Amino acid sequence: MRFHVLTLFPEMIENGMNTSIIGRAMESGLLEIDAVDIRSFAFNKHQKVDDYPYGGGAGMLMQAEPVYLSWASVLQKYPGCRRTIYLTPQGKTFSQQMAREFAKEEDLIFLCGHYEGIDERVIEEIVTDPVSIGDYVLTGGELAAMVMMDAVSRMVPGVLTNEDSGETESFSDGLLEYPQYSRPQVWHGKEVPEVLMSGHHGKVDAWRRQQQILRTLQARPDLLRTANLTGKEWQLVHEWKKEMADSEKREEP
Ligand code: SAM
Repeated sequence: MRFHVLTLFPEMIENGMNTSIIGRAMESGLLEIDAVDIRSFAFNKHQKVDDYPYGGGAGMLMQAEPVYLSWASVLQKYPGCRRTIYLTPQGKTFSQQMAREFAKEEDLIFLCGHYEGIDERVIEEIVTDPVSIGDYVLTGGELAAMVMMDAVSRMVPGVLTNEDSGETESFSDGLLEYPQYSRPQVWHGKEVPEVLMSGHHGKVDAWRRQQQILRTLQARPDLLRTANLTGKEWQLVHEWKKEMADSEKREEP
């Protein structure tokens, strides 16, 4: 899979993506990350790519033409690119589901804004997917693009080895992941749950599933609406909810 990142700070992308699992996938040729410097498409001798917004207001805007030319340079080399993602707080919120969908593409173009953003006309012309990584405002799109590339890469076959497999991770089946423990068996007086030491796979699986549901109920109850639970599991959820409500009442002054 190839990622093409249109950015004013290519070194940020290059330095941020070359370690650990993603670095290994790049070395083995499974992933390619191409940081395209928008500034090299500036059409003035000072390589200026921003200007004041019409109508006034604070800050500067990235101009349409250098952004367009940088995008066109990628399309010229890779005419099969179908999707251009604009990182913006105004986009649809990124999710595991979207990561899975984007991972089916051979190429993805990421457009990183800076300053107050980008001239709307070029966004209208080249962007297929405006995406936000959350309800807060960053200074630029580079960190957001790296977050997305990391999550999408993990969905590309071969990027995760058996050792770092993502099959049971949070969101993989609409639930958060169960808690995990490693050696030593007792740490700061806290024991590893007994069932995990039992060697009984059926019991371990059942405990983990219950923990997933409980964690999701406690931290992200909204996810349960679409999770695939059995009738018995729903019953358990209702019991836990009642217990939680009762204990809240007891704590009220
Ligand atoms: N004026 C813009 C607005 O209010 O929508 C915000 C511009 S922000 C300071 C500069 C750039 O950071 C944006 O063009 C975008 O590329 C990136 N950015 C900021 N917050 C983001 C978020 N939550 N998700 C993705 N990209 C973001």
